Amino acid sequence: MPEDCIFCKIAAGEIPCTRVWEDEACLAFMDIGPLADGHTLLIPKKHYESIWEMPPDEAAHLGRHVPALARAVREAMGADGLNVLQNNGRVAGQAVGHVHVHFIPRVPDDGLGYRWPAGESDPETLKRQAEAIKVKWAGGG
Ligand code: AMP
Ligand code: ZN
Repeated sequence: MPEDCIFCKIAAGEIPCTRVWEDEACLAFMDIGPLADGHTLLIPKKHYESIWEMPPDEAAHLGRHVPALARAVREAMGADGLNVLQNNGRVAGQAVGHVHVHFIPRVPDDGLGYRWPAGESDPETLKRQAEAIKVKWAGGG
């Protein structure tokens, strides 16, 4: 594990966290700087900086816990909704370079807002982009 990775240290029990749940491969714990009450993080115990580095089976193992954890966090906080968020790269808002999934409960007028400045496109552009992605797509593996 990288020497300086705070989430590797949490996974290894070297620094404390407020644990919700864990198994052999992943850990859920409370975010120390919550955007909302109940803000929870889910991480793989093994270090990967970005989601695209994860082997499919390990990503699937992490992902299979997402619905139940989302349900538990939302119900425990009495929230109306919940954002599941996963940032990759500094430009995308990632501050901790170890894959993590945010569970952020939402209630009306919580002040968090939601920035989604939808743009416009045209069929030709969308088709070109889809083709470029398909060239890179490894067929789910
Ligand atoms: P991101 O910006 O997606 O990388 O989010 C990193 C998250 O990790 C932030 O919400 C931080 O509050 C949270 N965080 C950083 N250090 C700790 C820690 N020691 N324990 C719990 N959460 C942490
Ligand atoms: Zn790490």
